[in-house]
Amino acid sequence: MICERCGGNNSDSAARCAYCDQPLNNAQPGNKFFNNSSGTNGRPIININLFSNNTTQNNNTGYLPEGITAKNKWISILLCLFTVCGHKFYEGKIALGILYLFTGGLFGIGVVIDLLVLLLKPNPYYLKK
Ligand SMILES: [Zn+2]
Repeated sequence: MICERCGGNNSDSAARCAYCDQPLNNAQPGNKFFNNSSGTNGRPIININLFSNNTTQNNNTGYLPEGITAKNKWISILLCLFTVCGHKFYEGKIALGILYLFTGGLFGIGVVIDLLVLLLKPNPYYLKK
């Protein structure tokens, strides 16, 4: 153990320098709680992760981010087929639903396109609220 103040060579177990009485740092290099190279002066290094990843890891427990809603693909397809405009209301697109209602699903074209798009979607599919 080399004294920081005077450079005197002391035994590793000495608490104070034998030459100048400077307190010696006896933190053991192998101790994982002490890391003198990081400038902590032997204080314990405690890492506490306050932001746990629990919410993002559990993707299969029904958790959805704020503002996102899950829709069942087959409910949308059945509504589209049999009501022409119901899938728009089911998706929360009220204005489009009313437009589809009064134009027969954009004269059939919108309904056909929506059916094809819905068939290609995963189930469930996700929309912004
Ligand atoms: Zn000394």
